[in-house]
Amino acid sequence: MIFMKEYKQEEYLMLSGIQHFAFCKRQWALIHIENLWQENYHTAIGNVFHEKVHDGAITEKRGNIITSRAMPVHSSALGISGECDVVEFHLDKSGVKIKGRQGRYTPYPVEYKKGVPKKTEVDTLQLAAQAMCLEEMLCCDVNSGYLFYGQTRHREKIEITHELKEKVTDIFQQMHMLFERGHTPRVKPSKSCNSCSLNDLCLPVLCKSKSAKGYIQKMLNEV
Ligand code: SF4
Repeated sequence: MIFMKEYKQEEYLMLSGIQHFAFCKRQWALIHIENLWQENYHTAIGNVFHEKVHDGAITEKRGNIITSRAMPVHSSALGISGECDVVEFHLDKSGVKIKGRQGRYTPYPVEYKKGVPKKTEVDTLQLAAQAMCLEEMLCCDVNSGYLFYGQTRHREKIEITHELKEKVTDIFQQMHMLFERGHTPRVKPSKSCNSCSLNDLCLPVLCKSKSAKGYIQKMLNEV
């Protein structure tokens, strides 16, 4: 991986923010810069689904696979930290050593999602970011992972290409720039707004040029 700089821990952004950013830059900024969040049907179901994934032993070994759940990950090169739902370590001569285990293993991140595979690449980008964290932490290449969808009960193998990793790097650089400036992009109404958990707070029609926080503050001042 080629990176421009190393971020300090206090500069780290949430890894999972990449899915918000890829969905809508403004949504990401509202959540991560303005600290606004609103639960809707989709996010509530997603939370319950993730709780089920994390319900069980943190690490277990079955055959040639070690499964680690809720594994914290980070990357100083990307300036991010977060958690992998599951990381599978497959016994593999060309893999890496794991403390306290015999043999060598290759890690595969597995991200669990409710619903069905999306038409956009938001989930793939999140998985690729997890893979890049694992690469940095374990000093190895992670070139594939899995997306598991709750509605289809099926997992899909995802190739994490060099191009995908470059895209992830570029996105996090954009996120850091916006975060440093504290800048929330303006509203750009799109189809995404219909399923956006922040639709009511973003007020896409009413505040095309204002920050949501400023708008809400103004409304409160008028009460
Ligand atoms: S309502 Fe639309 S513009 Fe506003 S944050 Fe959501 S997706 Fe973005």
